[in-house]
Amino acid sequence: MSQKKQLRRKAIKIISFDVDGTLVSQAFADCVWLQGIPEAYAEEEGLSFEQAFEFVKSEYDKIGENRIEWYKIDYWLRKFGLGITREELFRKYECEIKIYEEVESVLKALTEEGFELVVSSNAATEFVDFQIHSIKKFFSRIFSATSDCGEVKKSNGFYARVCRILDVQPQEVVHTGDHWVFDFVNPRKIGINAYYLDRKRSRSREVKGEGEEFVISDLNELLDVFCR
Ligand SMILES: [Mg+2]
Repeated sequence: MSQKKQLRRKAIKIISFDVDGTLVSQAFADCVWLQGIPEAYAEEEGLSFEQAFEFVKSEYDKIGENRIEWYKIDYWLRKFGLGITREELFRKYECEIKIYEEVESVLKALTEEGFELVVSSNAATEFVDFQIHSIKKFFSRIFSATSDCGEVKKSNGFYARVCRILDVQPQEVVHTGDHWVFDFVNPRKIGINAYYLDRKRSRSREVKGEGEEFVISDLNELLDVFCR
């Protein structure tokens, strides 16, 4: 290991991960919101799926992603008067949960290297818990901006709060996620070492421009930076 890498490695205590699009694909959440809920509503009201979908979608849009209710599934189940419970709905789409291929081995390697791993997600805790069930053992803490902080987006204030709770300086934290603003720009504002995950980008780009060393195409690249 180079001296520079050793120094960088030593300064880091916590490695934090986003969930949707980073550890797991978006498929499960999409199924729950855009298939399960309209389907249950169609059944309840004797509508076609298309009619129910249009209605449910327009109700989602009325609330919008800037209001906290948007993220609360129990709110929507109640609002639409659905008989199905959150647990039943989640179980119905359990087979849609897809943890990205490299995730488990990367989490294992980082743990063995001595890093403490946490989750910093925008999704509600119940969604996070259910989706990462099989890899939960790797994480010491799970932070949800919406459930724990009542914030609809991961702001720099959210990241500062995470650092305070973990009792670390932002410089001792690495965060990785697939949203340019909420996973990269905002944590960087307070000094967190953020990496932007762009899974569509090809890994073998030889020449990297300025700032591009913080853009990665899969989580294995974290091992190149902090382990190997
Ligand atoms: Mg994400």
